[in-house]
Amino acid sequence: MKLRRTLLIFFTLIIFSAFTPTEWKAEKHSGYVVRYTQQDELTRAAYISIFDQGKKEAQNFFSEAYRSDFEVKIHPNRQSMDTQWQTDWKMPDFKSECWMVASGVATKLDLLSPARWKEEVCEHSYEDKEKTQKLITHEMVHVFHGQWNKSPDFSEVEQLDWWVEGLATYASGQCDRQRRDEVKKALTENKLPSTLDKFWSGKNRYGLSGSVVMYIDQKYGRAKLIELLPLTKKKELLDVLKISEDQLLADWKKFVISLN
Ligand SMILES: [Zn+2]
Repeated sequence: MKLRRTLLIFFTLIIFSAFTPTEWKAEKHSGYVVRYTQQDELTRAAYISIFDQGKKEAQNFFSEAYRSDFEVKIHPNRQSMDTQWQTDWKMPDFKSECWMVASGVATKLDLLSPARWKEEVCEHSYEDKEKTQKLITHEMVHVFHGQWNKSPDFSEVEQLDWWVEGLATYASGQCDRQRRDEVKKALTENKLPSTLDKFWSGKNRYGLSGSVVMYIDQKYGRAKLIELLPLTKKKELLDVLKISEDQLLADWKKFVISLN
């Protein structure tokens, strides 16, 4: 009898926990609300200082403020984040790759809890503070960009992965010396993608996309980058710069070669 009762309680608990929805807590900060679960109760203070820093860096880069408050959601595990992305992106079968840890749009930054990175993430280590900060700043730039874009969740943005990702990469400092050197090497070896549409792919995607935005910034200035923020099509962007894609690529190549 005793064993049966113990088993009954045990299975009831398992079933109960499987069907209990995740309990989210909310905390207001300057310009955003953090949503988190019990798992991050104690560690969230450390994350929040990274969020604050990322938000500050994005604003400093553009010398402009965020246009509205947003939400930062710290998912307790990859399953929670995948479920969120499946709903947000209307892709019910979506399963994230192991290197995917965060995303940002105008209203929200989703992040897989760093407490889970050791078990559920490849390529990123939370302990590498500098890279972790840049990663969060990158997402904060996406949030900023979304708030200035005609398509706040980027769903209508076409042929501009190189620009959206390149901007976040460059503004967050991820287009570092090492990545620029790798692009330079690929250029001298004639191993570059032939169009901008392919720049955000492969192992050099950060360096390729980031250095194009770095070039646009140096040639046209920061005010021009801000002017480009609302755009959703590659042609619109090239029209504002008054340049063809071929010419932009040719000028960018010279710029990359000149980089130290
Ligand atoms: Zn990104």
